Amino acid sequence: MNTNRRDFLKVALAGAATALTTNTAQARPPKDLPPDAVGILYDATLCIGCKACEVGCKNANAMPTITDPALEQAKDVHAIWDASSDLDSRNLNKIKAFAQGTAAVKDREQDGYSFIKRACMHCVDPDCISACPVSALTKDPLTGIVGYNPDACIGCRYCQLACPFNIPKFEFDKPFPKIVKCEMCRHLQAQGEIPACCAACPTGASLFGRVSDLLQEGQRRLNLPPGTYQDYPLHRLDSGQQRSAEVRGYHPHLYGETETGGTQYLLLAGVPFENLGLPALGPESSAQLSETIQHTLYQGLAAPTLLLGGLVYTVYRRTEAERHADDVEERRHD
Ligand code: SF4
Ligand code: SF4
Ligand code: SF4
Repeated sequence: MNTNRRDFLKVALAGAATALTTNTAQARPPKDLPPDAVGILYDATLCIGCKACEVGCKNANAMPTITDPALEQAKDVHAIWDASSDLDSRNLNKIKAFAQGTAAVKDREQDGYSFIKRACMHCVDPDCISACPVSALTKDPLTGIVGYNPDACIGCRYCQLACPFNIPKFEFDKPFPKIVKCEMCRHLQAQGEIPACCAACPTGASLFGRVSDLLQEGQRRLNLPPGTYQDYPLHRLDSGQQRSAEVRGYHPHLYGETETGGTQYLLLAGVPFENLGLPALGPESSAQLSETIQHTLYQGLAAPTLLLGGLVYTVYRRTEAERHADDVEERRHD
């Protein structure tokens, strides 16, 4: 049969394309929020930047509260409070401040400032879980909490690369390093308690509850008239404890309601979230997209088709080259 390179490639690529197009209907569906999933609503307009949540978090999770002893010795002091400016392997949550212009007024976009609390978002469809090759990160089917198993972790740090919020941190300074991230104080929740940051917060800015209820609470706050005084729950949504505060006005978006397929940590603020270092993300997680591509490739055998095509083409090309070399050799001897 008289075939040439172009014909061969056409056949191989057509086979792969057919496999791909016949399987696009098998897109991986988005993951659903478990009905009793729990979460945290952080309201930046209520936050006073006291960092009691950071202290509560460190105590509850046995994180170091002082900096490197060598540094302390060098500075001839007994201890320095660990006050990093961002999340790291010693800090599971972090209160950050963002200012614009003169920073004269809190929760105002122009010439204002705002606090923001950063911690794991406990995504509904977490990219970190999708990226982890050994299932060291898992999502609890009831609470939706994204937990970490240090015994399973191989330290590849794929979760760090995959997380759209730049949350997981790595203990570079340890001989046997682990990944570090908020697990929503699941050890406290197992004893009937609430996350330490919500228990410590004096203003209700960090509020624990069922995600479905927190979503409603978030929408309720977005509709509150600025300048009025309203009751805000403290610590947990159904605690019965509350305080009255002036509504400062909200940027009209509940962050986490849709981002990357939804998150169980929800945020409200008076200024746009892009100004607070949070990424603008669509409603589809990267996990959904990448797993759809993987399933499409492997279920449709398109990847094996391409691989086989590549191998056959390589053999064909070598054979053709050898045949050509033989012809040249023969002509030389004639
Ligand atoms: S915020 Fe990052 S680390 Fe946390 S669940 Fe989502 S992808 Fe995972
Ligand atoms: S839920 Fe627990 S671990 Fe997470 S930020 Fe709050 S206190 Fe820290
Ligand atoms: S404890 Fe509450 S008010 Fe204080 S910094 Fe943390 S979230 Fe803000």
